[in-house]
Amino acid sequence: MIVMDKKEMFHVHTYRCGHAKPVSDEAYVIRALQMGAKKITFTDHAPFPGNFFANRMRYDELDEYVASIRALQEQYQDKIEVRCGLEIEYFPSFRTYYEELIASERFDILLLGQHLFECKPGVYNFDVSLSDQENAMGLFNAQIEGLKTEYFGALAHPDRCLQKIPDWTPELDRATKELVAVARQHGSIPLEKNLASMRSENMYRESFWKIVGEDYPVLVGCDAHAPEDLKIWEEL
Ligand SMILES: [Zn+2]
Ligand SMILES: [Zn+2]
Repeated sequence: MIVMDKKEMFHVHTYRCGHAKPVSDEAYVIRALQMGAKKITFTDHAPFPGNFFANRMRYDELDEYVASIRALQEQYQDKIEVRCGLEIEYFPSFRTYYEELIASERFDILLLGQHLFECKPGVYNFDVSLSDQENAMGLFNAQIEGLKTEYFGALAHPDRCLQKIPDWTPELDRATKELVAVARQHGSIPLEKNLASMRSENMYRESFWKIVGEDYPVLVGCDAHAPEDLKIWEEL
């Protein structure tokens, strides 16, 4: 069950993450307007204090990111609703940081996007050598633990972390059922069908979504890293 506005472009990055096109934030808004969207939700990759993690803005860029998106919100208020969010991993050691982000009331959504995980306090998956299976299940379980905190308004590409497990297994069946049960138990947190994943080998898993079922709340995200990536939205 898709629970978003049909005219919303959800899950948009900015140049700050370092792996998106070097264009202004406004370029995305202009493109969205041209395509007839009524809402655009930026969720750039969140920084963490100390800047320990790659592929994201620096912590000292966060204020400027928020200011930029809020300025666009004001500038375009009569034409399109501009929302400011973050795509962010769940790391248990940073619980106070999530609480601060939420308390600041600066973000319309914290979108859980588990690209890395914390194996034990202060030790991350990139610090140790893990098999593809261990890495995938570590990410998957971190998503489940993240949902339990209720810090996050939605879960981005929940099936993407299974990319390197090509064959669906009974273990994945069990893990998916647990994830959906936890998401449901914590307020039916929406799960994101990621349009960019659908275009990549093995990142979008039909077996996963079959277990989620037709009735569970679902968002559809562009995961745009360039204004032209928003074109994918037309397939919605
Ligand atoms: Zn990205
Ligand atoms: Zn993303």
